[in-house]
Amino acid sequence: MEELRKKAAELLQSGEVQMVIGYEEGTRHPRPCFISSADDTAKLIYDDRCTGNLAVYLTHKELIGGQKIAITASYFALRSILRLLTEHQIQLDKLVVLTVSAEREVIQFATTDDITAYLQTAPVPAREDDKALIEKLNAMSREERWEFWSAELSKCFKCYACRAACPMCYCTKCIVEENRPQWIQPWASTLANIEWHINRAMHMTGRCADCGACGAACPLGLPIHLLSHQIVQEVTDNFALDVNQAVSGDNALSTFKPEDKENFIR
Ligand code: SF4
Ligand code: SF4
Repeated sequence: MEELRKKAAELLQSGEVQMVIGYEEGTRHPRPCFISSADDTAKLIYDDRCTGNLAVYLTHKELIGGQKIAITASYFALRSILRLLTEHQIQLDKLVVLTVSAEREVIQFATTDDITAYLQTAPVPAREDDKALIEKLNAMSREERWEFWSAELSKCFKCYACRAACPMCYCTKCIVEENRPQWIQPWASTLANIEWHINRAMHMTGRCADCGACGAACPLGLPIHLLSHQIVQEVTDNFALDVNQAVSGDNALSTFKPEDKENFIR
């Protein structure tokens, strides 16, 4: 922790960055903090409880402005940073990307290849609760899964906390707010909720970091992150997409190759 605080203070004091985004102790859990003065770096923490995906703030122009930012990125936030770079939403020369390894060593990444190399060797943080539910879902028939998700999604009251927590939900106007034409019914009902969540999961295709932040943000505890988790599995298995790499132009839903299998057309 001291090493991280020292690094953050150095970056701010030298003027290399104007803000450090990291975690501080919250009331019950660690929460994000935005530090602009070296004097405040003493409150920085980083441990296994720091699971919120801080990359979500990197596209908040009202927060970032033209500043150069340092971020303490978790394993999954590193994946999101690679994706945001791929989608040209952030620039690496305006960013200092830090992480704390399992050995408690502070690492500063110079290139996207360095981030990829780290992600490929670092242990993927385990989410034991998810494991049990994923196994349960995988053991269900298609009809049982539909029943499960219909029941879960019917509870959603469309607060959009899941959207706000996701680094990849950066559109200035979300499809749910479009009303000319209105693609998705704005009220909360089983059908309208399923429309929203299927749209959201589809929009995450090849983009989701599998961080679980959307599910963690849901005040009702709906396991919606497992919808996007399934999409990650599908694109990994069928499109050989590596979520640990930033490859320009590599978008599962907008890339066409003549040799693509078309066995999904029936
Ligand atoms: S969809 Fe959920 S799991 Fe995927 S990147 Fe967004 S917040 Fe993380
Ligand atoms: S956070 Fe939960 S209740 Fe709110 S829109 Fe997302 S799924 Fe629905």
